[in-house]
Amino acid sequence: MKGVPTGSPVAILFSLLIMLLLSCLAHAEERVDAAADYDTNNVFARILRGELPADIVFESEYALAFHDISPKARVHVLVIPKGPYTNILQFNQNASSEEKLGLLDAISQTARIMGVDESGFRLVSNTGRDGGQTVPHLHFHLIGGEHL
Ligand code: AMP
Repeated sequence: MKGVPTGSPVAILFSLLIMLLLSCLAHAEERVDAAADYDTNNVFARILRGELPADIVFESEYALAFHDISPKARVHVLVIPKGPYTNILQFNQNASSEEKLGLLDAISQTARIMGVDESGFRLVSNTGRDGGQTVPHLHFHLIGGEHL
């Protein structure tokens, strides 16, 4: 059986389609398992260790807030605990009372700093595969600054 001659328009188009498909697969965001052990090399752990830059809004002993690299609204800040927790379930089970209060306090302070404490905002923590979580370190998206 004759194959498609290499260099023919059909072969070139086919190769381009394969390359496009592979590129899409490579860039598809990987979702996190809700029961996964903490990955010390996740991007937020690296920010906490000062290995990666972040545009910091608020910092305390227990939490850090910084601008999301790909904002979905005028205000889009991520608030994270400094401890190694993959998600809200692991945080609730293992964090101390001080860490829990510290995270709540950081969320409130960040809302005030960003000027959305009166206008309001949305607070979201995507958890696990079905929740669409892509970074395996607990984080709250604080989103606002406009009518959502
Ligand atoms: P999620 O999909 O809920 O896990 O959210 C992860 C969020 O982290 C996304 O909104 C990303 O835009 C954001 N993100 C990823 N890497 C960085 C980074 N280096 N600095 C700031 N935000 C980031």
